[in-house]
Amino acid sequence: MKKRIPNTFNLPVYAQDVIAVNHVDELMACYEHATAKNIPMLVLGEGSNTLFTEDFAGMVILNRIGGVAISETEDCWLIKAGAGVIWHQLVSQLIEQHIPGLENLALIPGCVGSAPIQNIGAYGVEFEQFADYVELLDLTNGELITVTDGEYGYRESIFKSQYRQHYVVTAVGVKLPKQWQPVLSYGELKLFDRQTVTAKMIFDKVCEVRSSKLPNPKVLGNGGSFFKNPVIDRTQYQQLAKRYPDMPAYFQADGQVKLAAGWLIDQCGLKNHQIGGAAVHDKQALVLINKDHAIAQDVIDLARVVRNTVQQRFGISLSPEIRFIAKQGEIDANLLLS
Ligand SMILES: Cc1cc2nc3c(=O)[nH]c(=O)nc-3n(C[C@H](O)[C@H](O)[C@H](O)COP(=O)(O)OP(=O)(O)OC[C@H]3O[C@@H](n4cnc5c(N)ncnc54)[C@H](O)[C@@H]3O)c2cc1C
Repeated sequence: MKKRIPNTFNLPVYAQDVIAVNHVDELMACYEHATAKNIPMLVLGEGSNTLFTEDFAGMVILNRIGGVAISETEDCWLIKAGAGVIWHQLVSQLIEQHIPGLENLALIPGCVGSAPIQNIGAYGVEFEQFADYVELLDLTNGELITVTDGEYGYRESIFKSQYRQHYVVTAVGVKLPKQWQPVLSYGELKLFDRQTVTAKMIFDKVCEVRSSKLPNPKVLGNGGSFFKNPVIDRTQYQQLAKRYPDMPAYFQADGQVKLAAGWLIDQCGLKNHQIGGAAVHDKQALVLINKDHAIAQDVIDLARVVRNTVQQRFGISLSPEIRFIAKQGEIDANLLLS
């Protein structure tokens, strides 16, 4: 009997087996079993950054390795969290224990082990700012290794390239300076006074704003931002800015310019656009939702329309932020949508 794969799009997708593991030894046992049976194996957190394009032909492993250990030096708090800990629960626990730093990243769905993989970010903060190390299990020999340089970028890391296959994130180390600096550069957070603001106030505000703007996957299936914000060179930006003077733009240190993918999609009049059961969210155009019993193909078809329309209107090719998983494993989302 095939088992349903948990995914925040709430799509009806199935695998030969779905197994929750709590220990490194169990991961190795699953890998050996999958290798012996010659079937693919995929490790998942909460499935909140993943689109299964069809049923998976092997074993899906839900990483549930738990545990949070907190120690300190004179300057820093050092946190080691199991990869299966829920990210928001870690952030909440730290705030409750008066350990500030991660408050801007509150309420991001998913597990701790997934945070370094796409270098999660929100409200002016990215995971990499507090990354200490990532512990990986090398499935080919059962050894644990520690990676301190994640080569982080915008929704990128070494865990998406060099350590993508045959490695599982088992724990994550985070280093939070005791000399706390609030990050208030984004949106509603700008209204706080940096002399009086506390981490708890930021945490509460981020939770409030996110809950009001983003659809709750438990109510309306979705995978958060479907596409990355595109980064273009200054010449292309200047040409576009002449035609669209009110286009939001974020100038990068390297001279390139980041645009808001949601704004581009919205300008194409695609909010609410629906294909089958999948639709562009009416409040946030960057989010594709499972509006009415969508199947994977509805989401793929909708994403293709969004990508093509933005390409035709702005000459910009949107790249998915979501990881696409097919029968045998990850596939190139750009190829599928082009
Ligand atoms: C409503 C909503 C809002 C969101 N907001 C944000 C946001 O503000 N900022 C942001 O950055 N992201 C956001 N996301 C995306 C998502 O929450 C993050 O990418 C999160 O880190 C994914 O965690 P997950 O455990 O669900 O990952 P999954 O979807 O389970 O996995 C993601 C990928 O990592 C691999 N993987 C998972 N665990 C492991 C492991 N232990 N070892 C090796 N590989 C592994 C999987 O195979 C898959 O390829 C949002 C998503 C939703 C649904």
